[in-house]
Amino acid sequence: MVDPTSPPPKVLIVGGGPSGLVLALQLLHNGVPIRIIEKNSFPRLGQRGAGIMPRSLELFTSLRIIEDVMNRAILTPPVRLYKMPEGVEIAHEFEMSPRRNPTPSHPYLNPVMLGQDKLEKIFHKALAGFGCTVELGTELKSFVQTDGNVTATLIKRGMSQDMDSGEIEEATFDYMIGADGARGVVRNQLGLSFVGETRNVENFVVGDICLDGLSQKYWHMWGDASDVLISVRATETPKLFNFVIGGKNINYTKIMQNEAEIKKCFFEHTGQRSDIKVLDIPWMSQYTPNIRMVDRFGFGRVYVTGDAGHVHSPTGGQGMNTGIQDSFNLGWKLALVAKGISSPSLLETFSEERIPVIAEMIVQTTKLLKKTLDNDEPSPQTNSTLFQLGVNYRWSSIVLDERKKIEVDREAIEDAYLQQFEFPGDDDGPEDDPDRLDSYGENQDGRLRAGDRAPDASGLAIEAPFDLAKQSCQLFQIYGPAHHTVLIFADVVNAADIITGLLNYPKGLIRTVVIVPTRRPAPRNVDGADFVVEDRGGHAASAYCPTGVCGVCIIRPDGVVGALVKGPTWMHRYFRGIFTAGRSP
Ligand SMILES: Cc1cc2nc3c(=O)[nH]c(=O)nc-3n(C[C@H](O)[C@H](O)[C@H](O)COP(=O)(O)OP(=O)(O)OC[C@H]3O[C@@H](n4cnc5c(N)ncnc54)[C@H](O)[C@@H]3O)c2cc1C
Repeated sequence: MVDPTSPPPKVLIVGGGPSGLVLALQLLHNGVPIRIIEKNSFPRLGQRGAGIMPRSLELFTSLRIIEDVMNRAILTPPVRLYKMPEGVEIAHEFEMSPRRNPTPSHPYLNPVMLGQDKLEKIFHKALAGFGCTVELGTELKSFVQTDGNVTATLIKRGMSQDMDSGEIEEATFDYMIGADGARGVVRNQLGLSFVGETRNVENFVVGDICLDGLSQKYWHMWGDASDVLISVRATETPKLFNFVIGGKNINYTKIMQNEAEIKKCFFEHTGQRSDIKVLDIPWMSQYTPNIRMVDRFGFGRVYVTGDAGHVHSPTGGQGMNTGIQDSFNLGWKLALVAKGISSPSLLETFSEERIPVIAEMIVQTTKLLKKTLDNDEPSPQTNSTLFQLGVNYRWSSIVLDERKKIEVDREAIEDAYLQQFEFPGDDDGPEDDPDRLDSYGENQDGRLRAGDRAPDASGLAIEAPFDLAKQSCQLFQIYGPAHHTVLIFADVVNAADIITGLLNYPKGLIRTVVIVPTRRPAPRNVDGADFVVEDRGGHAASAYCPTGVCGVCIIRPDGVVGALVKGPTWMHRYFRGIFTAGRSP
């Protein structure tokens, strides 16, 4: 909703799904005024992207919504696979996602499940904290971008269901982001390619179902994909389950005709159990695997994020999580550019960093789709790659590693992109390709590099600021979406020199943390540091500076290691690359 007393919005976000909401919240944290519009007149129903991966939970920590999410979400329920044809006796019971214990560097190691509609509500509440509301019933029709701005034509229908009605508004913004999903208009009108394929042979019917008679503690499954597979997963809401009906012997046209056909199919393929009663089917949809991606996320003043830039199989639960990471990658860059602190060229690194990740995500999800359809009995997902904790941008032109500068390997980026056409279902070649970028971090050796996810470190005791002294904290409480954090290891570098050097940069954009080994005195002349902490457990040193070579670690606002450097020279080189409009030395 536009408040006439607030500054004019600089950015228009089109689409109120998870990707748009994350971007909106991140820009608001950065003090960038926005508008976010959603063509639907009412919030969407449905579990959809319910699987929230550990990396998304870390980003929710940064956005300060983690408590709300964890209070409502549940762990992935254990699977019960029933013997057919009776469908009552349990053939196999297992954890879909075997439980892992958190560590000092990884506070979240288990995916959680929360209906996408509930997650979106949490975002709405967080946006309201900034005085921002998603403008429901407002649709982007078209736009024109020039060198100086973007003019959008909007139709405002409000709560009216009449698609021919509506007030037309023309509004001008500095930037516009299409978070408008797979069928969005922004990608098309921008002329971005969306290459890949639609697989009409592999369908699913998905939706939510209210049931009586089934335990709320399990993910129940009957049959397999060679015939008919019925999957009914318990959710965070009593009696509400999320269902998938798939398999080669399903007549999709017939069962999509009406609710009665779905109920009949459900009854027949779960052993005709009279103890299970279907109460309601609040939402359902037919799903056809569509495997496509853009070759760049946009240009000039218009970009896309989330499903608007990539669609793929829901196997592996990567879609929403990937959209969240897209927006997180874009948000801080867009904020700096919109505020005139960084050059617009910073936005080009959005495609440079994310395209290889998307290409790899498509490889992973397609591989899982093939596994599901190859009649494999459902089995635990032991592949923690899908947690997205290894996703990295080591090849990025804006990250710096003083030990080893990894140059941008344009050819390798291109190869990674082209691999989408060689789906692993057709040919397992990409796995054997030694030049493939390891954008999901499958083969990392455990050494932290610039471009990697920034690990957490618990067990820190605050020494300064004085009002927080002696409190314990962890690095994730200090990182945030609106500032870089510079970790300064006091036993490796001269902390005072680093802090003085950072005074040259725009105020409020960099937070400094001096890390002192346990039981050692704090160094002198570090009054200008935002935090001085004692590394009681040694976890910060072991995560970031295990060999004592690079005593300065720069963490970007998206929780990625921007630079690992030995001192001021390379630190300034990093920041000169980011704050081109700043007063860097
Ligand atoms: C059955 C199923 C299960 C899934 N499971 C998972 C999972 O476990 N984990 C996971 O990560 N992902 C999962 N996904 C994928 C996930 O739901 C999507 O990736 C996610 O919703 C994408 O978010 P988005 O914000 O990019 O796009 P969307 O959610 O599609 O949101 C786009 C929004 O833009 C609006 N819009 C479109 N055009 C306009 C316009 N012109 N003007 C204004 N508004 C417009 C739309 O109405 C929509 O609300 C699943 C998907 C399905 C179907």
